[in-house]
Amino acid sequence: MTTLAKAPTPMQKPKNVPPASFNSPIFDELGFPTDPHNLYRQTVGAMLYAAELMGLPHRVQIILAQPKTEIMVHFPVKMDDGHYRLFKGYRVQHNNALGPYKGGLRFHQDVHLDDVKSLAFLMTMKCSLVGVPFGGGKGGVKVDPRKHSNAEMERIVRRFTTAIAHGIGPDYDIPAPDVGSNAQHMAWIADTYSFLADVGGKDPSAVITGKPVEYGGSLGREKATGQGVVDTLVEMLPELGLKPEQCTFSVLGFGNVGSWSGKIFQDKGAKMIAVADHTGFIKNEKGIDAHDLATYVQKKGGVGGYPNATAVSKEEFYKTKVEVFIPAALEQMIQEEEAKWINAIVIAEGANAPTTPGGERILIERGIEVLPAILCNAGGVTVSYFEWVQNKTYQMWDLEHVDRELNKHMVKAASKTRDARRKYNCDLRSAAYIAACERLNQAYAARGIFP
Ligand code: NAD
Repeated sequence: MTTLAKAPTPMQKPKNVPPASFNSPIFDELGFPTDPHNLYRQTVGAMLYAAELMGLPHRVQIILAQPKTEIMVHFPVKMDDGHYRLFKGYRVQHNNALGPYKGGLRFHQDVHLDDVKSLAFLMTMKCSLVGVPFGGGKGGVKVDPRKHSNAEMERIVRRFTTAIAHGIGPDYDIPAPDVGSNAQHMAWIADTYSFLADVGGKDPSAVITGKPVEYGGSLGREKATGQGVVDTLVEMLPELGLKPEQCTFSVLGFGNVGSWSGKIFQDKGAKMIAVADHTGFIKNEKGIDAHDLATYVQKKGGVGGYPNATAVSKEEFYKTKVEVFIPAALEQMIQEEEAKWINAIVIAEGANAPTTPGGERILIERGIEVLPAILCNAGGVTVSYFEWVQNKTYQMWDLEHVDRELNKHMVKAASKTRDARRKYNCDLRSAAYIAACERLNQAYAARGIFP
């Protein structure tokens, strides 16, 4: 057996920690996939572990273990050269006990149903934890946006909107950006929806958030997820005896969440020394300027070839000694091997589900603190909620107001998570799920289950 290196300052290991492969009886009851590597089984399994720990009623556990609705669509789109391609799209509506379904749209070539179900489930948990009146949803199109012209993307996005328009709405299901989608896509969706929907003469732009500021978007939305990651770090680092200005950090994924987390954390005095994305792994012990790198990525499409850093291997990137490691790319990127490599004190999950249960078990054994995604990356949905409120009430908030309100939600969610950790002597992910499930359980207790 390999002996694992200790993290620089080990945390005290909590008593209740989920096993590498949690086996809930609910998996059999609901016919879950049996593959332990299945993302949906892994994400829901982490919640079911926490649910068992807190004694969540069985009826609430089974409701939360499956989405309410899964929409799958196929639609043809004309390419620039005149030929037609058929695309596959999804919208999964996980739960609306606390309010309308809410969650992003992913445009990526590998999108499939179990990913979208997992992400929709995480949205339910996140919205509950961060105290916004939304449920959870997620959607996407199996498409590589980098391989299409702007005109093709516009037709794909508008045709996808048409295909799901009957299932979304400003009071029912409100999408937002995610991997591969951006404010322009959101504007096309809002515009297309406005021609299709009958919302009683009201402005329908609240059907989607993450829009450009010129068309109903909120100040601070673009950076919101990164801002929330840093707000969470600022709140949690003192527990580990750290201040931002004492931290070096690395970032995995330098898109919306990664680049904003990097820029904002750097502006608080931290130093970014390693970055990775789909184009490569780079490192500079003297520091990589996050603002300059973001400008480079805008022009070149990725961090590969950045002149003020050295290209390194995947292993060297993960093994770089830092205080904070920020995964902000895709799911399941910290598995057992990467968890053994990581040389950090704290992991701030900007991405959704970046750590597998097997990976997490190793991190906990090594005393590495994991700030879970449903807490750490909840800034995006929180400011999406502010955008929705502004659209519905015809208000425009200034940036200071947005940032201040966001910080209040993040601090409160962090505090609820810490309280649950203390009460149940568990890891932070289980604690965040417990805090989220408590609110959902209260809603079900008040509402009852019809009939
Ligand atoms: P994005 O498309 O802007 O960026 C994704 C990044 O991941 C890019 O830098 C890309 O190069 C990188 N990447 C993709 N494949 C990779 C690979 N194999 N190895 C290394 N890097 C790879 O997406 P985003 O909006 O920044 O989302 C990133 C993560 O954050 C996702 O998990 C998403 O669900 C989550 N998230 C996003 C938001 C939001 O507001 N955008 C909110 C909450 C959570």
